[in-house]
This record gives sequence, C-alpha cells and structure tokens, in this order.
Amino acid sequence: GMAAEIIDGKAFAAEVRERVAEQVAALKAGPGIVPGLAVVLVGEDPASQVYVKNKGIQTVAAGMASFEHKLDAATPEAEILALVARLNADPSVHGILVQLPLPDHVDSAKVINAIDPAKDVDGFHISNVGLLGTGQKALVPCTPLGCLMMLRDHHGSLAGLEAVVVGRSNIVGKPMAQLLLGDSCTVTLAHSRTRDLAAVCRRADILVAAVGRPEMILGDWVKPGATVIDVGINRVPHPEDPSKTRLVGDCHFDSCAAVAGAITPVPGGVGPMTIACLLANTLTACCRANGLPEPA
Ligand code: NDP
Repeated sequence: GMAAEIIDGKAFAAEVRERVAEQVAALKAGPGIVPGLAVVLVGEDPASQVYVKNKGIQTVAAGMASFEHKLDAATPEAEILALVARLNADPSVHGILVQLPLPDHVDSAKVINAIDPAKDVDGFHISNVGLLGTGQKALVPCTPLGCLMMLRDHHGSLAGLEAVVVGRSNIVGKPMAQLLLGDSCTVTLAHSRTRDLAAVCRRADILVAAVGRPEMILGDWVKPGATVIDVGINRVPHPEDPSKTRLVGDCHFDSCAAVAGAITPVPGGVGPMTIACLLANTLTACCRANGLPEPA
C-alpha cells in the first residue's frame, strides 16, 4: 500500500508564481520597473522548444517581459556570443537564459561564461558556481533550488539529515549537493561509478534522484520514512498502448511511495518548480540590478 505523502510540486509552484506576480506588480506600480527575461534557443530540439515556450508563457503570466531569441541550428558561435553581449548591455533584460543543449559546433561553457553573472538566472556561470560553493550570495540553478524549497517546506530544518544525491551533473546533482550542504545535511554525491548504490541510497533521510534512467531507483533502496525527490523526466513507451508514450521519473514510483515518508511525483513534482524558480531568480536579479530589497 501507499504510505508516502505526495509532495504537490504543481500546487507549490503555483504559489511561488503567484508570489512573484504580486512582487512584479508592486515593482511596476512603485518604481515603474518591469523585470525582463531573455531566452536564447539555438536549433530545433523538440524538448527545448517545449521548455522555451512554457517559460515564455509563464514569464508573461507573471507580468514580466519575455524576449525570445530563436536562432538557426547553424548559427556561428560568434553570433551567439554577440547576442549575449547585446543582452548583457540591455537594461530592460534582467535575466538571460541560454537553453541547453547547444549544437555541437558551439562551446557551451564559453557561451554560458559570456553571460553577465548578475543576469545569469540559470546559475551556471562559473562566478555563480563559485559563489554557491563558497556560501556567498549567488544566483542558484533553478532545478535544485526548487528541490530545496520543497524540502525546506516539508522538513523545516534539514540540519543533520543524511542526504544522498544520485547524479553529479553541473545542472542538477552538484549544485543540489552544495545547497544541501549549505543547509547542514551530511551529503553523499553518488554517480555511475558508485559501488553498491542501493546500500548508499538506503542511508538517506533525503534521497534526490537526478540520473536520467527511467524508474531505476526501487522501493527497497529507500529508507522507511525517507523523503524522495525525483528530478528525472524520462519519456518511455506506454505499457498498454505502444503508439503512446508517458513520462516517468528516475524512481519507480509505486514501490518507492510504499516505503518513503514523502515523495515528489513525475509529472507534477520538480518540473513545475523549476520554471517557478526561474521567475523568482529573474525577479531577484531585477531587484539587485536596481538596488532594491530582495524578495523573501
Ligand atoms: P546528466 O545525464 O547530465 O547526468 C546524469 C548523472 O547520473 C551523471 O552524473 C551520471 O553519472 C549519473 N548516472 C547515470 N547512470 C547512472 C547509474 N546507473 N547509477 C548511478 N548514477 C548514474 O543528467 P542531468 O543531471 O542533466 O538530468 C538528470 C535527470 O533529470 C534527467 O532525467 C533529466 O531529464 C532530468 N532533469 C529534470 C529537470 C526538471 O526540471 N525537473 C531539469 C534538468 C534535468 P556519471 O557522472 O558517472 O556519468
């Protein structure tokens, strides 16, 4: 049977977006500032197109300005760098997001590090990575920030808890580990070379799965009562109808939910929180740029 509380990321994200929208409205009514987010999409990756479209819709719904720059897949790196430079210099742009992955002929690190760190709302610029790693004020990557918000909401203090993060990407796993360390968890960062991953996972009071392997983490890897945050978004064939697909996480939901104390579903967990945090980061960047107090 199901024991776990389902953490409703969709509802939580709606609250965050609502709060951002209120603060945006106050910025417009008061100092007359409209926060602006620029998104750069290079090429036609279908998943990226869906993400960028949703980001644009939610940015506008929060009352912010959305600037979409869609470039051909063959756009030379120099042209992308020139666009980033223009966005850096544009005072109506407070946040810049370059949608990854970029085409093979483009050096992603070079492009990301060309973004003004104060506008780097994805938190991937080396300056923001370094600030986060040293416990200084940074712009924090959206997906792990959303996970942290849900964990704080559920647990209150995270101090002293055993946290295991599976996956060490720069986008999710590593910054997630830094954030949990910042909240005084005892953090283990596991990956494809980890020995006896099941046993490592069973130590966790907080288990974060960011692997990209459908339903890899099974119920008997989960410590009874643990909180499971499933970052994975995997499209797999539908079990009953082969003409259809469905989304699953990196955790086998039913078996994990039978053991966990709380778990995020896929879809409806981490995914919606990611875009909500992007809007929150854009608002934060806008307030900092204008010397205004930061939103709570
Ligand atoms: P990456 O592919 O960049 O990283 C995957 C990590 O998982 C790597 O560190 C890899 O280890 C590790 N890994 C792979 N196989 C295993 C295994 N068998 N056992 C243990 N570890 C393993 O993925 P991302 O971090 O970008 O994304 C992870 C998942 O999260 C994906 O499903 C992605 O779609 C999803 N995602 C969801 C977001 C959201 O908004 N909800 C946002 C971003 C990502 P190694 O380093 O050793 O190769």
